[in-house]
Amino acid sequence: MTKIGLEIHCQLTNLESKLFCSCKANYREFSPNSNICPICIGLPGSLPALNKKAVENATIISMALNCKTPEKIAFFRKNYFYPDLPKNFQITQYDAYGPTSIGHDGKITVEGKEIRIRRIQIEEDPGRLIYEGESEKTQITLVDYNRAGTPLVEIVTEPDFENPKQVRVFLNILVDLLTNLSVSDPTLEGALRVDGNVSLEGGNKVEIKNVSSFHDLEKAIHFEITRQQSLVERGIEIISETRQWDDRRKITVSARTKEEESDYRYFLEGDIPWIKLSPEHFNKLKEKMPESISSKRDRYVNQYDIPGQVADILSSDKFFADLFEKSHDVLNAKEIANIITTDLMGFVDTREKREDLKLTSQHLTELANAIISNKLSRISAKIALQEIVNTGKPLSEIISEKDLGNVSDESEITEIIDKVINEESNAVKEIKEKPETVNFLVGQVMKKTSGKANPSTTLTILKKKLGLS
Ligand code: ZN
Ligand code: MN
Repeated sequence: MTKIGLEIHCQLTNLESKLFCSCKANYREFSPNSNICPICIGLPGSLPALNKKAVENATIISMALNCKTPEKIAFFRKNYFYPDLPKNFQITQYDAYGPTSIGHDGKITVEGKEIRIRRIQIEEDPGRLIYEGESEKTQITLVDYNRAGTPLVEIVTEPDFENPKQVRVFLNILVDLLTNLSVSDPTLEGALRVDGNVSLEGGNKVEIKNVSSFHDLEKAIHFEITRQQSLVERGIEIISETRQWDDRRKITVSARTKEEESDYRYFLEGDIPWIKLSPEHFNKLKEKMPESISSKRDRYVNQYDIPGQVADILSSDKFFADLFEKSHDVLNAKEIANIITTDLMGFVDTREKREDLKLTSQHLTELANAIISNKLSRISAKIALQEIVNTGKPLSEIISEKDLGNVSDESEITEIIDKVINEESNAVKEIKEKPETVNFLVGQVMKKTSGKANPSTTLTILKKKLGLS
């Protein structure tokens, strides 16, 4: 049996400052090595001061992943020598004296299967190495410490995944969950980085690092399973090692033999005291916790009779769920959910489009109400929606500019009906035996008016004319 586990590094991107100093947590817009101070580059004599908000946000993640949280947390030094690590140790958490990380023993359910969370720890991000030219042949490596000290949580799962697809589904759920908590924006470059480890029953564990996308991770895990299976078949032992994903050749390549935990020489970080987490800390955060995705979903179904599949899509996307919350009332909720999931999500399908979106919650309210009151057909509403997304103009202006409004004027509709009755004499003859033929005639009226004839008015007039009512 295949066993797959994950180590996920997630930056707490919604924080102002780094984990132990007042440099900006958002390092992305700085020129190299300009977002640094003696603390985050570890100059002798500098002292870290823990960012309280980082502990709060990490606690929120821990609670959302159903982890147990200890009464006291501690920080440790993880020692290793690498140019991206200015201090030659990383301040992180480690459960050397029982659980002292921000979370342990959690779980989330993925397609009916329980995935256990072993541990969540708060730690600092290292700097970034930039290779000039092709990485294998490069002579020059540059280092940028702007990212050093950025607050992270590392989420470690138990090896509970059985195949690469489960991994993908889990990561999608995790991204939605973190976004919903407003603690991280996983769509930012480098904000969410995932390493996988793969082993076959009884075999050694192989870690896969440096995979740049979820899609590649799935491929890398898939490759690794096949590689290990073929070794086992040939009687070759799988060695415990770290392998890199080679994006060009679509294979994993050996990077180094895996270091043991003991290689890191963990010891307590003496510059940061143990921190007691009071019941008030947890209570305050529980109150601040946003409604969970599953609770939103159930509320949409039960309160507004929104179909389950629509509620799934809407609730798991915080951006559109927020828009829904601002625009709906009891009467138009279902219609608005429908507009968002069938059309709006397709029109606004990138991060940039979301940021530039000119549509307001008021637009959505008006659009749904126009459909409900038969002022707009669904076809016209879709046209209007696209125009609103592009221009932000008021709905009324778009309706008159594009002549989208429904035809409700009875004489106008009667005129069209007369034409249809004339043209479709065969259908009219059938109507006594097959009363449902009337729907065909309504359809013809709709065709002639590009869907703009008020359907209930049309039906009433048709029935009267054909002696059906
Ligand atoms: Zn700093
Ligand atoms: Mn880590």
